[in-house]
Amino acid sequence: MSSPSATITLSNGVKMPVIGLGTWQSSSEEVIAAVKHAVKAGYRLIDTASVYGNEAAIGTAVKQLIEEGVVKREELFITTKAWTNEFAPGKLEESLRESLKKLQIDYVDLYLAHMPTATNDDMTEQIASPVEDVWKQFDGVYKAGLAKAVGVSNWNNEQIGRALAVGLTPIHNSQVELHLYFPQFEHVEYCKKHNISVTSYATLGSPGRVNFTLPTGAKLDWAPAANELEDANVIEIAKKHNKTPAQVVLRYALDRGLAIIPKSVTASRINENFNVFDFSLTAEEISKLEEAKINQRLFLQDFMAGHPEDAFASERK
Ligand code: NAP
Repeated sequence: MSSPSATITLSNGVKMPVIGLGTWQSSSEEVIAAVKHAVKAGYRLIDTASVYGNEAAIGTAVKQLIEEGVVKREELFITTKAWTNEFAPGKLEESLRESLKKLQIDYVDLYLAHMPTATNDDMTEQIASPVEDVWKQFDGVYKAGLAKAVGVSNWNNEQIGRALAVGLTPIHNSQVELHLYFPQFEHVEYCKKHNISVTSYATLGSPGRVNFTLPTGAKLDWAPAANELEDANVIEIAKKHNKTPAQVVLRYALDRGLAIIPKSVTASRINENFNVFDFSLTAEEISKLEEAKINQRLFLQDFMAGHPEDAFASERK
């Protein structure tokens, strides 16, 4: 069983908290309150991305927390991500400096390539920049001291292998969709072999994804999917431990040695999602949970289709 201050040591020695606050779809107003509540409750990792549009609000919350003496900068672990237009050739360092300005900090703890596919600014054109070239830019910002660690998100194993083969800074973290109904066994095994830590996103099954609205106001089509918080085995095991279904699926990822970043803007849920350090699942319970054998990817990232670096090309019909 891990403690609330549990960390994962990255391959360069940097310690990353095993649990952080996710912030996708959290508005500026919501995220200020959520970050302040979370840090006061014990969270130390905040996960954002330039494309979430809330870096400046997170910067405000972090500044206030530091000024109030709640936490020191060096006790926090701030992750942000470069969107597809920001790692187009030659753009990354400027993009990261822009994120740092919004976050009001002079380094991030982890900087991720949000996707493997480069595009122009409004995503109307795909740019055939190979992941090797994307990774060379991440090596550059790491060596410039702007990020304490660097990693990737939504890259497949083969792409990670090609980036590693460049022989520059290793990949410190891979952030992927991973939950009970999309357990990513092969990816976790691959990362373990290459000493890459794994962060699970959508650990709760991302029940709020259906509310997502693009900047144009359009909504995405989400395929119907089973809800793991309603899984009979999850509910049974939750009752046994006097925990909630959400706490059981979060614990499932923690017990696999992964980091988690559950998102909430609801104070009681922010507490609930952090209150997972006083129990753990037995091997038998884990097997029971995995009996579901549902392998549903929720985030197909359709905009990647047709790009030479589409990570999920083999899964598209
Ligand atoms: P998630 O964390 O699985 O689920 C968040 C949703 O669950 C929200 O609608 C939240 O509602 C609700 N929720 C939170 N705690 C709950 C609880 N205890 N019981 C029931 N419902 C609960 O999904 P996610 O936001 O998609 O993923 C987590 C984070 O991962 C994101 O916020 C983001 O930081 C990151 N992410 C990264 C990528 C990527 O491409 N790298 C993609 C997706 C997500 P309320 O907020 O209303 O409480």
